[in-house]
Amino acid sequence: MPIYEYICQQCDHRFDRLWPTAAAAEGQQPVCPGCASTATRRAVSQVSVLGTLGGLTPQEQSAAGAESARQQSYTPKEQIQTFQANRQKKRGQGR
Ligand SMILES: [Zn+2]
Repeated sequence: MPIYEYICQQCDHRFDRLWPTAAAAEGQQPVCPGCASTATRRAVSQVSVLGTLGGLTPQEQSAAGAESARQQSYTPKEQIQTFQANRQKKRGQGR
C-alpha cells in the first residue's frame, strides 16, 4: 500500500496519506488534517514504503540511498580489508 506525502496549499501543512493502491491515489486531493481544506497537492517524489523514510529531507534520502548503494558495491572481502585497515589505523594512533 503506497504512502504519499501531501502539502496543504491553504496552511502549508504536510501530511502522509495511505492508499490501498497507487491507482486509488490518482487525481485525489485528500482533506488537510490541519484546516480541513481540500486544496492539497501531492509532494513530488515523496513516496515512501511504510513511512521508513518519512522523517528525512530529500537530501538525506538521496544521501542514504547513495550510501547503501556504495555499501552494496563492496564485496565481503573488501569489507574485511576495510575493517582491518581501519583497525590498524586506530592502533597506529595509540588507541
Ligand atoms: Zn491545511
